[in-house]
Amino acid sequence: MKAAMFYGGTDIRVQEVAQPVPGPGEVLVRVRAAGVCGSDLHGYRDPNRGWPGLGRPNMTGHELAGEIAALGPGVVGLAAGQRVGVEPRHLVGCGHCRWCRQGAYQLCPELGMVDGKRVHSTGFAEYSLESAEKCYSLPEDLSIEEAAILDVYAVAVHAVHRVPVSPVDTVVVLGVGAIGLAIAQVARAAGAGRVIAVGRREEPLALARQLGCDETVDSARTDPVEAVRTLTGGEGADVVFEAVGGTAPTFAQASMMAAPGGRVGIVGSFVEPQVLDVRVCMRKEVSLNWVWSYGLWQGVPEFQVALDLMTGGRVDAAPLISHRFPLDSIDQAFAAAADKRASGAVKVLVIP
Ligand SMILES: [Zn+2]
Ligand SMILES: [Zn+2]
Repeated sequence: MKAAMFYGGTDIRVQEVAQPVPGPGEVLVRVRAAGVCGSDLHGYRDPNRGWPGLGRPNMTGHELAGEIAALGPGVVGLAAGQRVGVEPRHLVGCGHCRWCRQGAYQLCPELGMVDGKRVHSTGFAEYSLESAEKCYSLPEDLSIEEAAILDVYAVAVHAVHRVPVSPVDTVVVLGVGAIGLAIAQVARAAGAGRVIAVGRREEPLALARQLGCDETVDSARTDPVEAVRTLTGGEGADVVFEAVGGTAPTFAQASMMAAPGGRVGIVGSFVEPQVLDVRVCMRKEVSLNWVWSYGLWQGVPEFQVALDLMTGGRVDAAPLISHRFPLDSIDQAFAAAADKRASGAVKVLVIP
């Protein structure tokens, strides 16, 4: 099969590699679309970062959808040709530890390990080996492209699970990338009273308003902490979701703009240790919650919740998809995703 091989940094080569054969409980998925995630960009921007434990070169791509191409021994309930959304392999828990048993498999110490070896989905290839029980049948009216970013919406569902919202809450989402826009939509669907999106580029801020945000703040032009204070009559926000990470100043900003008794959810992946004025957090009794991937919510896969929200039209994923590139042009896909200011990208898809 054709696959993008990641040699570190911007060195990505499309090569011919052996097509995997599904073992017991596994399926082979013919990938039809795969999203470039912010987490994929860490290793692209800095060869010293990137997905840990995969070695070099490696294959990645964890936001994917496609069709079942082959079934491993003993797999039931799936058929060749069936369209599926996929919970990626790096989020498969061991199934028997305390955390897996309570549905928080994202916290499993053996997460993404098979026989002591780290495994990863290969969405940036023609085929990806997946766990059969992590494949979700897609309704006919959901496009493969939308299904490819179910992973993004599952993260958003988990964020609202970790930091619940209600009609009395003013919710701020810091960041208008795909994750931020997904959280804003899921928060609205979950009944948030008022949603304010904060970002640094006008196009995705306009998209945030189009997708139902009540107000937007351009943090490239105004101080977002002051702006949120002004918009909330000096109180601050009841709930803040931080969805930028990287090297952004948003970790400290999130707590600064929270109201007394406010709740903060940290969703972005920061690449450096962060500094926080704990006096401000203590005086306001701000609760700080971490949001890492997703798992089960009262026994229901958060991936399934995301699929139901999308299928029911409660969230709209299609407007997030801004760019598409064939697998042979994956270098252009990563370049567009890595410089969103130049490309205008929100979510970039690779179409293998
Ligand atoms: Zn992702
Ligand atoms: Zn486990």
